[in-house]
Amino acid sequence: MKCFTPICLLFAALTLFCPAETTLPPKEGAPAVGRSEVGTLEDDGSRVSVLGYHVFHATKPATQMLISTKKFRSQMEAVKASEVTVITLEKFLQWRHGEIPLPPKSFLITFDDGWKSVYTEAFPIMKELELPFTIFLYKNYVGSSRGGRAMSDDMINEMLESGLCTIGSHSVSHPFPSTVKKNLRAGSEIYAKFLQTELGDSKTFLEERFKSPVTTYAYPGGFHTPEMFSLADKLGYDNLFTVKPGKIGRNSPRHLLPRYIVLGNHDGAYNAAMIFRGGSRLASGAIAPIEVPHPVSPGSGFVISSRLPRISANLSEVDGIDFESIVMRVGGFGKVPAVVNPETHEIAWTVNRPLRQPICEVSVQWRLKGKTSYEPAIRWSFGIDRVANYQSQ
Ligand SMILES: [Zn+2]
Repeated sequence: MKCFTPICLLFAALTLFCPAETTLPPKEGAPAVGRSEVGTLEDDGSRVSVLGYHVFHATKPATQMLISTKKFRSQMEAVKASEVTVITLEKFLQWRHGEIPLPPKSFLITFDDGWKSVYTEAFPIMKELELPFTIFLYKNYVGSSRGGRAMSDDMINEMLESGLCTIGSHSVSHPFPSTVKKNLRAGSEIYAKFLQTELGDSKTFLEERFKSPVTTYAYPGGFHTPEMFSLADKLGYDNLFTVKPGKIGRNSPRHLLPRYIVLGNHDGAYNAAMIFRGGSRLASGAIAPIEVPHPVSPGSGFVISSRLPRISANLSEVDGIDFESIVMRVGGFGKVPAVVNPETHEIAWTVNRPLRQPICEVSVQWRLKGKTSYEPAIRWSFGIDRVANYQSQ
């Protein structure tokens, strides 16, 4: 048990704190990956957003790695209710190969490591909502009896037989970046052998054990070096995923595909994954599915094109509000000097320097007259379509 939890927690921490992920420069003599190897297909404009999850639990407090089953369900329901299609890995690969078109916006849902809770918590939801998914398994954890937290072969086979599940590789040992670097420093021969095991043996193992082809790889912790790219090509991997957030186009470099790792205790990555450029409005209920009890602007879940919007909330439904106490907070700005109109009961503030993030989170809080404590805050988020903004200027 001890072998796995700290590793994965560390990787989750790495994911969160090093979003810009590390790439080591190519060693001298290592083959450089030229531009000619990627992006050979026409960009058809379609975009895929890949969501990545780890562990699920019904009652334990959320962590970066662990998302509550309830929250995961609400996210999958929002995905299902949205205008965005959830595609199988097979369709994704066919599109990447230029064989089929995809709708303009699609999701690919992935689960890393092979935790048992994927089967006990997530799989029932995926079945109920008929959402396909991919599991990235690492060899040493598959069917591992140690700790009792890994999925058994029976569980994995049942998911495969459901027709919803596809397998990808996540290495043999889920090595720490420090282990990868240590092998790299030991010289090219040792490093090549190390990579051959991690990428090669995991592929052969999974293909033989589960009788299905494995052509995708998720770098453990997102950590990669250029030597992995050429070996991946030799071994027959054709699409490899990092943990760097972003959308995938048809000609995105196949060794460095972005992926949103959804954290159990923070909605940022999830919200960013739900926003696609070029739309004036998000898929219904897509962004942090929050119902706001009072009229707000920009609306919860809307995508706007201005980076200097006027943000407002109308609190006329609140009885006995103490106007002096109303506070508005805006992500990246903190408490802002919003003005309250005592006639309309609207609090408003116009953003005074361009919003830089794709999502803007707002909260408004107040006290009732004669009370010393604040009422629960109302919170909502809206998106900023920066492309549209640039075009309109
Ligand atoms: Zn992992």
